Amino acid sequence: MDESTYIRYDNAIEEMRAHEYPMLQGTTYLDHAGTTLYAKSLIERFSSDMISNLYGNPHSASNASQLTTRRIEDIRLRLLGLFNADPQEFDVVFVANATAGIKLVMDAFRDQEEGFWYGYHRDAHTSLIGVREAASEHQCFASDAEVNNWIEREDQVGGRAQLFAYPAQSNMNGRRLPLDWSQRIRTSKRRSVYTLLDAAALVSTSPLNLENSDEAPDFTVLSLYKMFGFPDLGALIVRQASASMFERRLYFGGGTVEMVVCLKEQWHAKKAGSLHERLEDGTLPIHSIMALDAAMSVHRELYDSLEQVSKHTTFLAGQLYAGLSSLQHGNGERVCQVYKDPASTYGDSTTQGPIVAFNLRNESSGWVSNAEVEKLAAVRNLQLRTGGLCNPGGVASSLGLAPWEMRENFSAGQRCGNDNDIIRAKPTGMIRVSLGAMSTLKDVNLFVAFVREFFVQESVPAVTLPITNSEVEAPTQSRLHVESLSVYPIKSCAGFSVPPGAPWEVRPEGLAWDREWCLVHQGTGAALSQKRYPKMALIRPSIDLIEGVLRINLVGALRDTTTIQEVTVPLSADPRLFLDEDLYKDASARVCGDNVSAKTYRSGKISSFFSHALGVACHLARFPAVSSGSGSTRHSKAHLQKYQKASGTQIPGAFPVAVPIAPGVCVSKPILLSNESPILTISRSSLNRLNELIKADGGKAAQAEVFRANIVVAENPAYPPGLEDPYAEDDWRFLQIGQQYFEMLGACRRCQMVCIDQQTAEKNQEPFVTLSKTRRFDGRVFFGEHTCHLPLEDASSPLVQNPSITVGDAVRPFREDDALQDSRLHAFVI
Ligand SMILES: *Cc1c(COP(=O)(O)O)cnc(C)c1O
Repeated sequence: MDESTYIRYDNAIEEMRAHEYPMLQGTTYLDHAGTTLYAKSLIERFSSDMISNLYGNPHSASNASQLTTRRIEDIRLRLLGLFNADPQEFDVVFVANATAGIKLVMDAFRDQEEGFWYGYHRDAHTSLIGVREAASEHQCFASDAEVNNWIEREDQVGGRAQLFAYPAQSNMNGRRLPLDWSQRIRTSKRRSVYTLLDAAALVSTSPLNLENSDEAPDFTVLSLYKMFGFPDLGALIVRQASASMFERRLYFGGGTVEMVVCLKEQWHAKKAGSLHERLEDGTLPIHSIMALDAAMSVHRELYDSLEQVSKHTTFLAGQLYAGLSSLQHGNGERVCQVYKDPASTYGDSTTQGPIVAFNLRNESSGWVSNAEVEKLAAVRNLQLRTGGLCNPGGVASSLGLAPWEMRENFSAGQRCGNDNDIIRAKPTGMIRVSLGAMSTLKDVNLFVAFVREFFVQESVPAVTLPITNSEVEAPTQSRLHVESLSVYPIKSCAGFSVPPGAPWEVRPEGLAWDREWCLVHQGTGAALSQKRYPKMALIRPSIDLIEGVLRINLVGALRDTTTIQEVTVPLSADPRLFLDEDLYKDASARVCGDNVSAKTYRSGKISSFFSHALGVACHLARFPAVSSGSGSTRHSKAHLQKYQKASGTQIPGAFPVAVPIAPGVCVSKPILLSNESPILTISRSSLNRLNELIKADGGKAAQAEVFRANIVVAENPAYPPGLEDPYAEDDWRFLQIGQQYFEMLGACRRCQMVCIDQQTAEKNQEPFVTLSKTRRFDGRVFFGEHTCHLPLEDASSPLVQNPSITVGDAVRPFREDDALQDSRLHAFVI
């Protein structure tokens, strides 16, 4: 086929998918290796089948039951036909997913009298590797050559059963492995070894031919949702010639047994019929099997055959690989490190499937954090996968990670899907982009353009930090003042603006009433956040110091979700309002992965108010008071220092946290509660600068609320107008606000949460896109400064005993050299 044929086909898919895949509107789906998508016609056909027919539980005499049995037998046959498998030679066993099929094979081997030997290829999916735990002996083959050598050597294992397993296609990088191993093993000196082929990844975009049963694997597992998007079903295809392996399987269940005696005698008679009757424990997923029929029909109508899908996706993968490989930084360095197997070739469907796994490098050849890529992809509505990809052997060998490194990374807190993904200058995971039958060239081009837009550096730094003027001003006539103060009484919900003129208490852990409460999931106990529940922005708490209550209202689209318009809880922590602590011992809130004990309110009205508003079962919870001894989980930097002074713990340097608070996550010591520091300060002129850039690109300006700042510092309008000084805060070390001193702890790392419009709860692309282009350093995006209160040394002064700040207070920033000149501050600077 020449290129124009491919393009014609691609255009046809593009046209078809506009009506068949409405869920793709406005998004780019690049995770077909996770699951592909179902067509609208499939769901419609399935639902009309369900509505117009009466299906009963199979194996009884009723008409409804007979209809079910007949349909299922037809569908079994049809599925075998898809792989040219002769029903005389093969049987198909329906299972929940590919993993369940693998486990069924494992059961049979585990129940052999002498146990079994298990060999598996390095590229195996996690689910295939797990079988080794049931084996008496196991071996991981690190390369194809090792497999080939092993096939040729004499069998040493003796009488024990043996099973060799491998994936037909790696779910990590799409490499396709040789399909002739089963046949070669069967005709070699190792003819007694059984073979298990994991075809879950392969068959989503490739045919599999089981026509010749002598050459076919003994056991083949599939995930049908990876082929059709729906139903959620798997299949195990067994060669009849190898079915006897299952005879020793010990377990039986309803459906796989004829008669069971269990009172005075223990006896049972297993089913003796076909293999699937002996292996399908319990009621079959009958409706899913019906849906499979519709899935096969619709797939054939839309795509004709798996051969056709294979041609199309192979073409697209070639374009994707070429596009990513060609990207270069201005200085000529490559942008994408693609993890392609040396034995595979993009464009050749026998060695390579439509998956590209890679990592990105910056222009100095350093790695770009995948957490960063994920955040930007989320903003641009690109669906892809990052991390360990359920393929430990493939990932470790591609990334050059030794077992000790993986263990150490693990103990350093690195888990699938967290933020610190570059350790010892090596990435701990990768990015995977995978294509499916309904992918098009548009998706491919869009993704390559995305990488180009955000990750190709033209060698000119995106921002040059402005130089602050170093003049020291007296706070009374400062150019800067506090424009506004806000607190966020319920973590992740809307902010409350401190009324002008009201002195607001500053506590060691932050402004009074900030993040005092949170919402916790009733099932998991995890604290809810706007990232997952954007509607939290429409829950508006306010602090009523006159009535002494926290008032919570719903605004915007949430206003009509419940008949209760407002709930209140006392600001005082009345213990009678909380659920028995013993009862809720396990329901401690998990904030950013840390366990924090929070007390849950017992009122059903309060819980249902929040649960209705967000559509998730949750409770309101309160963090314990800081002063409550062991329950204390929030510490300011100053507290930490005092503790360290008192306990004699030496810390390197007087101020350990002059570096940016690490990755906006909960790793740095002073801020244990959550991913927030005690206080977050932003600058109006920086926000104005950011908004100018956003507007210049036609975007929507960001409001201060999206940054969840506590203190907004702005040029004093009463002061003679001067130049704004955006990002001067990058150099601030301390702030004097009114009569209080604060220390800057470092820049605040940002994620796509800043894109949630706090008035409508809708997601935008801005300001994250512009921030990423102008405020990205070392692959991290920063805006605003973490800040904490610095108590004066004289503990008896009323300023220390009841520190407060007020909207309008004068603000005086200190850079490091300014601080050295200040009698109070210079002691704090090394
Ligand atoms: C997806 C996948 C699996 C697991 O399939 P499940 O249906 O989730 O059990 C196993 N192996 C490979 C190669 C896969 O791609």
